[in-house]
Amino acid sequence: MEYGESPGLDALLQLYPDLKEVYELTVNHTVWRKRHCLNMIPSENVMSPLAMLLYLNDAMHRYAEGKPYKRFYQGLIYVDPLEVKVQKLMGELLETEYVDVRPISGTTANGSVFRAYTKPGDKALVAPVQAGAHVSHTRFGTLGALGIEQIELPVDLENWNIDIDKAVKMIEEVKPKIVTLGGSLYLFPHPTKELAEAAHTVGAKVIHDVAHVLGLVIGKVWDNPLKLGADIITSSTHKTFPGPQGGLIATRLEEDYKEIGKIVFPMFVSNHHLHRLAATGVTAVEMKIWGRDYAQQIVRNAKALAEALASEGFKVALEHLGYTSSHQVALDVAKLGRGTKCAVLLEQANIIVNKNMLPYDRPEDVKDPSGLRLGTQELTRWGMKESEMKEIARFMRMVLIDKKDPGEVRSKVVEFRKEFLEIHYGFKITREDEVRLLKIMLHAEM
Ligand SMILES: *Cc1c(COP(=O)(O)O)cnc(C)c1O
Repeated sequence: MEYGESPGLDALLQLYPDLKEVYELTVNHTVWRKRHCLNMIPSENVMSPLAMLLYLNDAMHRYAEGKPYKRFYQGLIYVDPLEVKVQKLMGELLETEYVDVRPISGTTANGSVFRAYTKPGDKALVAPVQAGAHVSHTRFGTLGALGIEQIELPVDLENWNIDIDKAVKMIEEVKPKIVTLGGSLYLFPHPTKELAEAAHTVGAKVIHDVAHVLGLVIGKVWDNPLKLGADIITSSTHKTFPGPQGGLIATRLEEDYKEIGKIVFPMFVSNHHLHRLAATGVTAVEMKIWGRDYAQQIVRNAKALAEALASEGFKVALEHLGYTSSHQVALDVAKLGRGTKCAVLLEQANIIVNKNMLPYDRPEDVKDPSGLRLGTQELTRWGMKESEMKEIARFMRMVLIDKKDPGEVRSKVVEFRKEFLEIHYGFKITREDEVRLLKIMLHAEM
């Protein structure tokens, strides 16, 4: 075909099978996950249409290295103040002025902070994987890559949390450089206050990784670890905080902020994916307006889901504590075929969850753990409330307990989703606004 001709998209797809394949996989994914599924993976969320449209901006093609106004590239006269604005917005939400939004993921944020506070061979006390810690806190992940020795804090198997008394003793004995808290299976907060006191007496820094619960901290249904004595928080920006995939670091210490900033670049990012900033900014404004309502509903939904699943006959974790205080619910499905099989069966019914190790699983169970991890943050964003959680528990029962054909349940799920196709707790714009914004983003046509 001559350059410059356009026979239209359909003809192009017919003409170029490779293009058709890429196009169809992308469209199918989008329609399936956005319209037809119950998305319950706790580390995911969806942006509002306004945030998504601003995400398509030209900065996705550009470079910046270093901090705003001290860059190694030209062309950033609008990106610099935007980055400062987004830092300020996130700082307002987290009640601190020291925020770095350059890490492109939670893992990158952790790496930067770990490197700033330790040298190879130093010791880190980390929340145990059984108490939900993320792989980046372990010898298998970023901590290991940096040559830091991982020592696990003692776990209280009854409450799936850190054993405070034993942990305080361990901190006094080991005298680590850092203590990391926070996790990926995170139902109840790790004891920041108690451990921060002990850590500070031996000169250790306390890092609380709030990747999963950032939206709950900002919505003030979870305590801000910085107020409980943590020196620093690291996070992702796309879990309960419903922004674009990215990371951030926030601290109450000016000196630490400066030191860590010198590690983020050049050690962990060069260019930091600048188009994220606009979408993070839009999401921050949404959270400023609706964050509290959103966070409260997420937690109400998680509790309702846990109760409903229990009354449908599932073994739901931590009943004696009220199941959960976060967006997550943990299920023990050892008797229903274990995690892998259950997650796959649910996927066939368009219920998207992930298998997860429970505290009593053995390391060799990692490929087929006994648990499932569910999250309500995205369901809540699609406008679902407590009564919908009951319906979802029934769908899950049909698949996993009644052993109904998942295909049959899938039709019910697709039908059910039809009433929940609009993003809540975010800005509403019209279809005309959407077209106007696409013209700007694609062609800079005002
Ligand atoms: C998800 C998660 C991360 C990693 O975040 P990415 O943005 O995926 O790199 C870090 N820490 C915890 C506790 C997490 O759950």
